[in-house]
Amino acid sequence: MQANAAVIDRRINSKAFFELRNDGILLFRLDVRTNNKQRIVSTMKVSILMNRLATRLMVSALGISLMASSSFAADEGKELPPPKDEPKVINPGPPPSDAIVLFDGKDLSKWEGEKSGDAKWKVEDGVATINGTGTIKTKQAFGDCQLHVEWASPAKVEGEGQGRGNSGVYFQGRYEIQVLDSYNNPTYFHGQAGSLYKQHAPLVNASRKPGEWQYYDIIFHAPRFDAEGKLTKPGTVTVLHNGVLVQDNAEILGTTSHVGAPKYTAHAAKESLSLQDHHNPVRYRNIWIREL
Ligand code: MG
Repeated sequence: MQANAAVIDRRINSKAFFELRNDGILLFRLDVRTNNKQRIVSTMKVSILMNRLATRLMVSALGISLMASSSFAADEGKELPPPKDEPKVINPGPPPSDAIVLFDGKDLSKWEGEKSGDAKWKVEDGVATINGTGTIKTKQAFGDCQLHVEWASPAKVEGEGQGRGNSGVYFQGRYEIQVLDSYNNPTYFHGQAGSLYKQHAPLVNASRKPGEWQYYDIIFHAPRFDAEGKLTKPGTVTVLHNGVLVQDNAEILGTTSHVGAPKYTAHAAKESLSLQDHHNPVRYRNIWIREL
């Protein structure tokens, strides 16, 4: 190849382009058109320090990049074939017509005690209130899902930090999205409302005042394990707190626990959803779930 020959001549936009020469010099040029004739008004040597190897590497990298961009260009104008299946028509509600209503304000018949027996939280005026009778879990097991849950920490503020309005939504009985009165209530960041407990703090604190109704909309993807119980894909969680994104496809690092590092232990593909009794009278209403 002739010395100083252009290896790549690439237009950036209607007025600017660059030229990479085989001697390693990269030129940027700016075009100005006068009376419809092109005139180059600026030529700038950007790099003259590269040795031959660096030049070759750069030429290769740019060449691959240009090949990729030209293949994209070749696809321009081609339409994707339309999907064969029409999206299922549902009534969006709320709750959506394809959701399983876990609590509609009448009773806790879809729930049971975490250890045994019936769910014994107090149900009154469309609301279930934690009363110290223990964590409750769904009778049905779930894998990937979308969950809507409304909750309110006590209007009467008592305690502080983790002792104020503490409860929690446990996916598969293991992975807790923290429920806490985090309105002017300092605590460790990855333990406040909307956190994946002790793993990821919420992106923002979108808490309402004590006693006010708040809600979570959560998309949970369960972890996957192989036949030997080895983790093949970690779980993820996306959380909207009062409509605000607070967990953005966050990776679950294992079981959420108060002490020690998170760690995965293999479990069934579907497990119960739990609501934590942390001895604070947190209230719940309008809980529904969609299997994904
Ligand atoms: Mg909790």
